[in-house]
Amino acid sequence: MNLILCDKCGSEMIPINPDHNCGMTCPKCGWGWATTDYNPMWNDDTIYDIILMPDNGCSCEIIKSLSKLTGLNSLQIKTKFMNAPVSLFSGRAEQINEIIKVLNSYSIIYKTSPEYPY
Ligand SMILES: [Zn+2]
Repeated sequence: MNLILCDKCGSEMIPINPDHNCGMTCPKCGWGWATTDYNPMWNDDTIYDIILMPDNGCSCEIIKSLSKLTGLNSLQIKTKFMNAPVSLFSGRAEQINEIIKVLNSYSIIYKTSPEYPY
């Protein structure tokens, strides 16, 4: 393993936790970082359902964006908008996260089941 030197004072850094390769810290000045920003989504095995609510307008742009993210074709997405409330997509938190961002950016009304906590 290469020596890692502190950005602030140049001392040799030590692992924060020797059992896990999770980050380094400086024993002299306390400077340090975690190599991975912990994201609770990664450990969440819950399958979330995105339910499209009625009375949403659907534009070409939203259909295109959702089609890319869900793998559904534009006709299938259009049908979902027409048949709302209907499940748009089910998946793990990190999968539906991108879809939720798109829905929010187009002010689409939806709900998630169970409630999406992120
Ligand atoms: Zn230091």
